[in-house]
Amino acid sequence: MALLITKSCINCDMCEPECPNQAIALGTEIYEIDPTRCTECIGHYEAPTCQRVCPITHTIIQDAAWQETREQLWEKFVMLYP
Ligand code: SF4
Ligand code: SF4
Repeated sequence: MALLITKSCINCDMCEPECPNQAIALGTEIYEIDPTRCTECIGHYEAPTCQRVCPITHTIIQDAAWQETREQLWEKFVMLYP
């Protein structure tokens, strides 16, 4: 499933340049993840790199509204990089 940035975000801008899919951008108040581009970093890294660089623990969480299997995340990766 895609990841979600919660209101704990302090807009530090650490995650945005690290996302390999350009899924992260500054929204109206805090940084936001485009769920159509987030693959949980599948195809690039072993684990979500945005969670790794975020200085505020538990700010980036799994988005329950975007339930996806690992296979579906791989399909999204292939769609992003045809
Ligand atoms: S998990 Fe990976 S692809 Fe998804 S928003 Fe974070 S850095 Fe980008
Ligand atoms: S790294 Fe964390 S605190 Fe910084 S902008 Fe991204 S989500 Fe917000």
